[in-house]
Amino acid sequence: MTADERRERALVEYRKKLMEHKEIDAKLKKMREELKDLQKDFDKSENDLKALQSVGQIVGEMLKQLTEEKFIVKASNGPRYVVGCRRQIDRAKLVPSTRVALDMTTLTIMRCLPREVDPLVYKMSHEDPGDVKYSNVGGLGEQIRQLREVIELPLINPELFLRVGITPPKGCLLYGPPGTGKTLLARAVASQLETNFLKIVSSAIVDKYIGESARLIREMFNYARDHQPCIIFMDEIDAIGGRRFSEGTSADREIQRTLMELLNQMDGFDTLGKVKIIMATNRPDTLDPALLRPGRLDRKIEIPLPNELSRMDILKIHSSKITKHGEIDYEAVVKLSDGFNGADLRNVCTEAGMFAIRAERDYVIQEDFMKAVRKVSDTKKLESKLDYKPI
Ligand code: ATP
Repeated sequence: MTADERRERALVEYRKKLMEHKEIDAKLKKMREELKDLQKDFDKSENDLKALQSVGQIVGEMLKQLTEEKFIVKASNGPRYVVGCRRQIDRAKLVPSTRVALDMTTLTIMRCLPREVDPLVYKMSHEDPGDVKYSNVGGLGEQIRQLREVIELPLINPELFLRVGITPPKGCLLYGPPGTGKTLLARAVASQLETNFLKIVSSAIVDKYIGESARLIREMFNYARDHQPCIIFMDEIDAIGGRRFSEGTSADREIQRTLMELLNQMDGFDTLGKVKIIMATNRPDTLDPALLRPGRLDRKIEIPLPNELSRMDILKIHSSKITKHGEIDYEAVVKLSDGFNGADLRNVCTEAGMFAIRAERDYVIQEDFMKAVRKVSDTKKLESKLDYKPI
């Protein structure tokens, strides 16, 4: 065997070993993840078991501290008790209106409970912003910069505002036509900052029961304050932030009360608190001026329809995950997409993929993109014909 052959063989061996190593590494990673999941399951079962074995507890609300060791607590089933407290509990936490758990037999305070969260607010908080990066938002560089300045800077560096002597902004309004990326932008900020994220569609909180919507707004802000840093994102704010009229039906009055509660809450929270609000609307002209005044929503950022350059950006973002064959002339596609918004451009990519599937290909070619952009453009024309026209 020559030296060259020996070297060749050693190289092949080495490559084989490397592959094996990589496979083992991947398997190890998977197993570690499985172990983590199992550990989580185990901990949960342990907790459940402990809860089952423990003596029942009564939930109550702290009313007043009598002496160093005695407290008045109102149990959730009605009666008030003068009770003692376990030694391990930090007395400073036992302020009025804290929720506490009492031992069933001795009525001793066993622990402080977190504040009760309204199920609706709980649902809002489980809206995951997803893993959206700023690079997933196309053509809105200046808007991203402005939004980060209002939201990110006060959260990360509040001392800067103190030093300069100005109050940091509480939030901002994103306005512009539908489908231009307002929601996407809010998601990007929340996911990049890794803050808590409350997403509210404003029309959904207008309740048919009087006073309920205002209560929900209060609960929402309380939740945000308890879970700082938190970004509250209110979509379609025109549903409650509309201009107030002196006359109106009782439903209108309920909406006005909700708006007043919102204004009240926005004035109320400490500006240096780590709660920031982003509101979005397609109809900025209908909003109540009180909502827009500086000190409440300090900055208004317009999210316009994308121009040719921005459309190119957005198209490239959405087509990046698509398997393509041959040269794709994005410029030609963009030229045909006059008046398209971000959502339409995403639609173009989906349609192009559909054309490829129909042609039994697993990759997309230039022709598919061209057909797709024409198709979306035709549907858009049809939509604009269906627009309501006053007689
Ligand atoms: P609406 O006012 O109707 O709620 P919106 O402005 O909030 O609309 P989004 O929901 O953010 O619009 O956009 C819809 C989808 O369109 C997004 O999920 C995204 O895929 C795409 N899109 C819109 N604008 C952009 C953009 N600038 N860059 C990348 N994708 C975009």
